[in-house]
Amino acid sequence: MSYLFPTYARWNVTPVEAKGAWLTDKSGKKYLDFTSGISVCNLGHVPDQIKEAVEKQLGLFWHTSNLFQIELQEEVAKQLTDASGLDLVFFSNSGAEANEAAIKLARKSTGRQKIITFIDSFHGRTFATMAATGQDKIKTGFGPMLETFEYVALNDWEALQKAVDEQTAAIMFEVIQGEGGINSGEAEFLQKAQKLAQDNGSLIIIDEVQTGIGRTGKPFAFQHLGLDPDIISVAKGIASGLPLGAIVGKKELAEAFSPGSHGSTFGGNPVSLSAAKATLEMIFDDSFLKQVKENGEKLASMLEAELSSVSTVKKIKGKGMMIGIELTEEAGPYVNAAREKQLLILTAGTHVLRLLPPLNVTEEEMKQAVAILTEVIKHPVRSK
Ligand SMILES: *Cc1c(COP(=O)(O)O)cnc(C)c1O
Repeated sequence: MSYLFPTYARWNVTPVEAKGAWLTDKSGKKYLDFTSGISVCNLGHVPDQIKEAVEKQLGLFWHTSNLFQIELQEEVAKQLTDASGLDLVFFSNSGAEANEAAIKLARKSTGRQKIITFIDSFHGRTFATMAATGQDKIKTGFGPMLETFEYVALNDWEALQKAVDEQTAAIMFEVIQGEGGINSGEAEFLQKAQKLAQDNGSLIIIDEVQTGIGRTGKPFAFQHLGLDPDIISVAKGIASGLPLGAIVGKKELAEAFSPGSHGSTFGGNPVSLSAAKATLEMIFDDSFLKQVKENGEKLASMLEAELSSVSTVKKIKGKGMMIGIELTEEAGPYVNAAREKQLLILTAGTHVLRLLPPLNVTEEEMKQAVAILTEVIKHPVRSK
């Protein structure tokens, strides 16, 4: 029996060790891990440079509280602001908490209530971020939601124009919806949305929790589209697997987050930050990001070559190392079949296979994954 609440439909894989793109389970089976802990272990499992940085910090101090000057917070904040073009950082422990901070900051700084989000978005599991999420299944059974969210179909310009009014504090979106199905916001739509927000005195919040930290081949996905957000939220990949989240925002918002207005005991934990500093040093590097872009293109074209003519494959989509394979059938059984063949992948939405390999995956590992996927997708799955 398990002593855990059954909130997850867990796989029958019990990790005992992991390195790079490979994960070993209790039975000694080795899996090729194209989940990266859901876009968290972007440098693969247990990268040496990050391990060294964490071990060093473990010997210095672990936690003091945010009443102290924490040098590592300033250093990582500088890395995040330099890479994003934004000005100020607030550290949390997770993506949901980062989005909570973004929502609170947008409401307080504008003095407005309403936030527009998108159908099939995912923003987290707290009460506000669950309400922000445009998926009914996330909200079922939890009673009345925070009422200040309004949901619009992604890329529906007419609907967005209709929804934005003088009570709109912000428009909040993922550039590519991760959990919802690897659905991309169109450049023109998002640029027009930004202009609409600016003209209306509303903010743009971009949830980069899954797309950020190099995943799409740029530090943040919004940079592919030349957007100018007021706030971005990050988490997942920021510290290679140690818990950390952050918002990065414009300096004009500073007054709304004055002393005492918001906080977190663990937010910006020094051990997590030591991992973040080393992680961002490696990932926010032009030649590293160029490699991510090239890897992503290589992987997508290998998948196209093998799968585009298969009748169950609708399309291959995504950007960089965030790739979706949209099927005509439910994706779950294919994820299970791949796992039987020791390749770990995820679903996104109901019909999409989601690949989130480590950003530094090798060409040989990509070939191995494509071979397994091709075999699994070409042979119809008998769901078990
Ligand atoms: C995972 C995710 C979140 C929630 O992050 P947690 O760390 O699980 O709270 C929020 N937004 C997006 C886009 C995500 O992918």
